[in-house]
Formats: sequence, C-alpha cells, structure tokens
Amino acid sequence: MAGKTIVILGGGFGGLAAAQQLRRMLPPEHRVVVVERQDTFSLCAFNMRFMAGEIKERREVVRPLSELAKKGIEWVHGDILEIDPAARRVRTSSATLEGDYLIIALGAEKDGSGIAGFAESAYNLYDANEALLIDKPLRELDRGRAIVLICRSPFSCPGAPYEAAFLMDWTFRSKGNRQQVEVAIYTPEPRPLPAAGPAAGDALIGMLKERDIKYYPQQKLQKIDSGSRKIIFEGGEAPFDLLVGIPPHIAPKVVREARLTDETGWVPVEVDTLETRYPGVFAIGDVTSIKQPNPSGLSLPKAGVFADEESRVVAANIAAEIRGADKSKRFDGRGFCYIEVGEGLTAYASGNFYGYPGPIVYLEPPSRKYHEERKKLELDQLADLV
Ligand SMILES: Cc1cc2nc3c(=O)[nH]c(=O)nc-3n(C[C@H](O)[C@H](O)[C@H](O)COP(=O)(O)OP(=O)(O)OC[C@H]3O[C@@H](n4cnc5c(N)ncnc54)[C@H](O)[C@@H]3O)c2cc1C
Repeated sequence: MAGKTIVILGGGFGGLAAAQQLRRMLPPEHRVVVVERQDTFSLCAFNMRFMAGEIKERREVVRPLSELAKKGIEWVHGDILEIDPAARRVRTSSATLEGDYLIIALGAEKDGSGIAGFAESAYNLYDANEALLIDKPLRELDRGRAIVLICRSPFSCPGAPYEAAFLMDWTFRSKGNRQQVEVAIYTPEPRPLPAAGPAAGDALIGMLKERDIKYYPQQKLQKIDSGSRKIIFEGGEAPFDLLVGIPPHIAPKVVREARLTDETGWVPVEVDTLETRYPGVFAIGDVTSIKQPNPSGLSLPKAGVFADEESRVVAANIAAEIRGADKSKRFDGRGFCYIEVGEGLTAYASGNFYGYPGPIVYLEPPSRKYHEERKKLELDQLADLV
C-alpha cells in the first residue's frame, strides 16, 4: 500500500486531536502533517483560570509543538495562505503541501476591532494574554458594575461567558464587597446555551438568579463609549466599571477566500461524517456550521468537546478507508460542558444535540465532583494533545 498524506490545517484543539488519533491508527508509512502558525499549544479553557488568578503565567500551561515529532506527527510551522480544496492543496508561508486528505481545523478569528471602543474598554476573555490581565482589576474593584459582554453570536464555548460572570460573583463574595458590586451579563442570545434547548438554559438562568447576577438577553450591541464608560445597545445603554468582553467571531480569512463557507459564514459539512462538498476534505471544530438534524432549526454549538469527537470520527473513517475497511464511524451530536461557579464548585451540562424533536440537554447542579473531574480532564487533554 502506497503511503498516504493527511494534511491537517490548524494545530489547535481539533487539529491536534485529529493528528493524535490518526497517528495511533495508521502505520508510519502514512504521513500525518499539521500546519500551524503558533509554536505552542494550550487550552482556551485555561483563560478562566487566568481570569480567576489561579494560574499566573501562560508558560505554566503551554506545550511546544516541536514535541509532536516524537510521536511521528510532522509539524509545518507557518501561516496558511491559500487553500485549494478541489486539488487538496495548501500554500503556506513555508511550503506548498498536497494531501490525499485535508482536515480543516482552523477555528474562528476572534476580533473585537469591528466594535468601536472594544479594544480601549474591554478585556478580551478569549485572548489568553488579556485574560491574564483581568485578575488584578477584578480584585481591585470595590464598587460599581462588573459586566460580561457577548458582542455577537455565534461564539466559541457558549458556557464560558456565564462562567466568567459566576467567577466575578465569587470573587466579590469572597472579598466581602458583593453588595457594592453589581454583576451583569449582556448578550444577543435569546437565552443562555440556546443551542442546548430550553431545559439547560432555564436551569442556568436559575443559577444566575440564585447569585443575583443580572441577565440581559437579546441585546444588540452598537458600540462601546470608552470615554463615558457605557455600552450602547440598539435599545439602551449600560454603564460599566469593569468590562470583560467576548469579541465577534468569524471564519478565518483563508477559509472564506477558498469559498468554503456558506451563508452562515462558516463551513458546511455533512452532520455525521464532517465531509465538506469536496471529497476527501473534512472540516471540524469551530470553523464548521452544522445544523442540528432535527426540526429545532438550531446549530451545533462551537466547543472543544465537539471538535474532539468530530476529530475521532474523521480520523477513524480516513484510517478505515486507507486500510480498505468500512467507514462506519458517525458523529452523533452528543456533548457535555462544565460551568464553574466559584467556591470550588462546577455544574455539568450534557446530552444529545441531535435529539428529536430538539436537543435533549440537562444541566446538573454545581458540585465538587464535577470541579475535580474538569480540572483533571483539562490537564489530561493538554498532555495528550501534544
Ligand atoms: C475562554 C474559553 C473557554 C473555553 N472552554 C471550553 C470548555 O471548557 N469546554 C469546551 O468543550 N470548549 C471550550 N472552549 C472552546 C474550545 O476552545 C474551542 O471550541 C476549540 O478550541 C475549537 O477547536 P478548533 O480546532 O476548531 O479551533 P482552535 O482550537 O481555535 O484551533 C485553530 C488553530 O488554527 C490556527 N490557525 C488559524 N488560522 C491559521 C492560518 N491561516 N495559518 C496557520 N494556522 C492558523 C490557530 O492558530 C489555532 O491554533 C473554550 C473557548 C474559550 C475561548
């Protein structure tokens, strides 16, 4: 059997998971190549620990991608400049590569520059370096309004902004000044975790209420006035003293330029195989647009848990095809997420996003067990992926 080449575009959460799976399943004559512009990997979930001051420096939780070579995974360090999906060819700043298979795992660009005032006023929770800066002003705020602002939908990890609000609440309660600080979340979403269906969203609203965290859904953001420290929405405004923001997300430019996206702005794929309209070209993770195969009209959320499971499906089917076996693995829409609420407690949402007639997802109340489970999972993932 002639050696095949699988080129994985993006060495983030989904791309590295796919590379590890493929390397385990395929003998060494087949090449597994990851193209990534960064030279280290870390989990975005650590941003929550940076914000809470639990981890003080990024280097405590990064892994060098040069380590991939030890596992027989090739890493091409460079920017992907052009994708030709029909030819399965990729031009990068360091080489041009052709694959028998392409897996696109380029995530989402998270960029606040289109929102006037965002860069001057908000700490970007989705940027690790900025998340590290939140701890100090959070601890120093004595009174006023601490706000979490979701600029646009969709965004990665639907639970993360809520987690940020819970961590703010807990910081002020531990400090003893919660009565003096209002904690609030503003979002364009109709309810929390909208893609998970009403049961999980209502349970999360209950958790916000219990902690007196104000919740403002369906807020259409216009701009942030950094001078007067006000967020301006279509229907009103909100003052802030500390602002933690989730910037708008878009598919990476190189993906848009390759015309891989549809009217959603993201890459459409088959709901169970993750194949794009180009044979042998797959897309996984945050870059995809996946409509739930049920009448809900909802999409699959962008989350690492799905990127991981999707990577397993794609890797198993590519490996099966190369071996001449049945490509029988299917993605079934199951997923879970943890939502930390402070005090060493974490809630757990899980279920089936492909349920009928809509997603069947439940949120279990915060417990120490889930807290420990989550911390262990994050460290295991960091160690496994590189
Ligand atoms: C604060 C925060 C907390 C989160 N917590 C959780 C959680 O608890 N559970 C969970 O399931 N999910 C969580 N997520 C979501 C999770 O991190 C993402 O869903 C996941 O990273 C998506 O994986 P991906 O491979 O699609 O994209 P990414 O992990 O973003 O990887 C994309 C990669 O492509 C690279 N890239 C992009 N363009 C180019 C280019 N032109 N050339 C070269 N390289 C390029 C990028 O550098 C990046 O490394 C969280 C996200 C955030 C921001």
